[in-house]
Amino acid sequence: MADALSHRFGNRFAASQAVRDLHGRDESVHPAAAPDAVIFAESTEDVAETVRLCREHGIPVIPFGAGSSVEGHFLAIHGGICIDLTRMNRVVAIHAEDLDATVQPGVTRKQLNAELHDTGLFFPIDPGADATLGGMAATRASGTNAVRYGTMRENVLGMTVVLADGRIIRTGGRAKKSSAGYDLTRLFIGSEGTLGIITELTVKLYPVPEAISSAVCAFPSVDAAVDAVIQTIQLGVPVARIELLDALTIAAVNRYSKTTLKEAPTLFFEFHGSPSGVEEQATLVQELAASHGGMDFEWATRPEDRSRLWQARHDAYFACLQLKPGSRAFPTDVCVPISRLAECIRATNEDIARSTIPIPLFGHVGDGNFHLVVLIDPANPQEVAEAERINHAVVERALAMEGTCTGEHGVGIGKQKFLVAEHGEGAVDVMRALKQALDPDNLLNPGKILS
Ligand SMILES: Cc1cc2nc3c(=O)[nH]c(=O)nc-3n(C[C@H](O)[C@H](O)[C@H](O)COP(=O)(O)OP(=O)(O)OC[C@H]3O[C@@H](n4cnc5c(N)ncnc54)[C@H](O)[C@@H]3O)c2cc1C
Repeated sequence: MADALSHRFGNRFAASQAVRDLHGRDESVHPAAAPDAVIFAESTEDVAETVRLCREHGIPVIPFGAGSSVEGHFLAIHGGICIDLTRMNRVVAIHAEDLDATVQPGVTRKQLNAELHDTGLFFPIDPGADATLGGMAATRASGTNAVRYGTMRENVLGMTVVLADGRIIRTGGRAKKSSAGYDLTRLFIGSEGTLGIITELTVKLYPVPEAISSAVCAFPSVDAAVDAVIQTIQLGVPVARIELLDALTIAAVNRYSKTTLKEAPTLFFEFHGSPSGVEEQATLVQELAASHGGMDFEWATRPEDRSRLWQARHDAYFACLQLKPGSRAFPTDVCVPISRLAECIRATNEDIARSTIPIPLFGHVGDGNFHLVVLIDPANPQEVAEAERINHAVVERALAMEGTCTGEHGVGIGKQKFLVAEHGEGAVDVMRALKQALDPDNLLNPGKILS
């Protein structure tokens, strides 16, 4: 098998320990598991041929984007061949008049926005890492802009997908809507490489707003900040971004990103629209914040100040890691209906207060989504057990509130144990039936999503 792949792909086949290790370790606390070899694909046909060869030999295949997922998604727990898609990084077409772009799966979100620079358009989905569009579709990713622009679920129009038997199919198209049969596009979004490998995708674009302004506002307590968020969302203010960082996260960000933010629970806001629309939204939100004890909005209207602010937000995860040098993060990612957010965060803060581990809390609260970064030494069993306990408690609480165990990171290995509790046996059985129908030999990223 190695000979066949090596013969077909030449120096795009790599079996060195260094390359395998690079593709077998993620940001999570799950133990590293390197693939047996890595193929650097450059075309849909490369992917299809690798899949066909692996199928003949009964060998697992694991797609790989930027490697930024955090739940053990691409770890080769059953061995196999990793298909690295980062060389498939061409923006195939930009249809400015239709507000869409077709890209290869290795294009990253920042790369796409750089290529859109002169078009007056942008792509809004922004996970903290500079992930690939293929990986983002495969994890149904979102980010700070989701409160206004939605997640990958709302923003992918169509795809090319290589199936487990090497067939190449198209799903969806470029039309903004379609009622033509089962929605296969949405089936592959969030399937984490377990149903097919995405080799091209068409995504929606948006006009760069005429006016943008960002602000930060500190609050006397997390409760007060969350109440301001809930009221903003319930009143239907179309904020583009509304992010919560607790005081510990702000302290970490100040140290890491050299900012001088007041070390208190803080909301980061961004408003998009016409100049008068932005002013109207901002005034309303400022009043709401003040009514919850929000202290002085600090505005960032110059593009470079806004970029610095949001880069600091995107770096919050790495900033938090520095609070405990040498630690790894055990991230949680629950999402609840907005009306339950204050209650969920309040109870979670009680868990945090009882713990001896530093646990910053931050998140995309406009969607009801927040993260804890439980900073542990993975070699310390007490800390691992403590992180597991907190994770369980937070997930159980979110599920009891009709929320989800993962708002955006996905299932990978880490969230499998919660799937039945969230969806019920019947729904998980349907997921198994879909997996069985599309990948009967269980060769596509085996052991992920479904155990
Ligand atoms: C600092 C930091 C901040 C983050 N912030 C966010 C956030 O705000 N929101 C959010 O949603 N996520 C966030 N994440 C998680 C991560 O960035 C996302 O899950 C992202 O979508 C992963 O994309 P990737 O290209 O890195 O995919 P990878 O990690 O390489 O792969 C992810 C999964 O998708 C599969 N896959 C990859 N490419 C394909 C393909 N072409 N076809 C089929 N399957 C494929 C892989 O097999 C794997 O199962 C963050 C991560 C970090 C480290």
